[in-house]
Amino acid sequence: MSTRRLTFKDHRRELGQNRYVYAVVSRRARGLSIGINLNPDKVCNFDCPYCQVDRSPEGMAGVSSGVEVARLVEELDVLLGWVTDGTLWSHAPFDTTDPALRRVADIAFAGDGEPTSSRAFAAAAEQVHAARDRHGLHDTPIRLLTNATLLHREGVRRGLASIDEVWAKLDAGTEAWFHRVDGTTFPFARVLQNLAELARERPITIQAMFPAIAGAGPSSVEIDAWVDRLREIRDSGGTIAAVQVYTVARDPSDPSFGPLPAEQLAQVAARARAAGLPAHVYG
Ligand code: SF4
Repeated sequence: MSTRRLTFKDHRRELGQNRYVYAVVSRRARGLSIGINLNPDKVCNFDCPYCQVDRSPEGMAGVSSGVEVARLVEELDVLLGWVTDGTLWSHAPFDTTDPALRRVADIAFAGDGEPTSSRAFAAAAEQVHAARDRHGLHDTPIRLLTNATLLHREGVRRGLASIDEVWAKLDAGTEAWFHRVDGTTFPFARVLQNLAELARERPITIQAMFPAIAGAGPSSVEIDAWVDRLREIRDSGGTIAAVQVYTVARDPSDPSFGPLPAEQLAQVAARARAAGLPAHVYG
């Protein structure tokens, strides 16, 4: 689940060397979004053609596998300390941040791959939760951005106990479109089952990426099927807190993928809203 990053390379030398913790100032989140990357090896069980993680040979140079949870906690402690005592805001590039945004908006497991595929996920989630509380940021939500493929695993379930909000990807309504836009042969039914089961336990947020492929967006049939899948999750007793509809914003790995025009995105969100789902266009 890739995100755009504002790294610390212009900040202090030691933060520039972070492996797991990074930060983004986000107007949408209304503050500093602290990212936890459990995939420094850039491995993902999806291969979304719109992914912005650089997996070229150059981009893979120097990457390392495995997660050292103790190092992750150390990096997070340093950053949270600087946020809570205010020193972060006096250093570039954060010194230009609007005063209204000088707060921690969230801590999000979102990096260069699927966070739950890391064996360290449960331990990392527990430690991040403890660090958040240690710094007195009890009201800051801890989010997991996930492709929902592994939510049924016991270790992932354990980690979810330390996560406040799950933002899960659902880019398709049919198996064929799912395989195309997410670059996977993973069974679509497993993802749908995982989403429904989790949504029955707690409200979930759905993130839906709709690209144009070679200039053509998803068909009307595909959009209807996507709305139907969301409806099925809800009608099985699940709660969908929000549906975030967005499109390609930056250079994707497959150049035939591009942004869907704003009016088409708005139509997608409107069709979900017509089914009673809380959908909005993001970005
Ligand atoms: S789920 Fe897709 S977009 Fe997210 S990191 Fe994996 S390949 Fe990239």
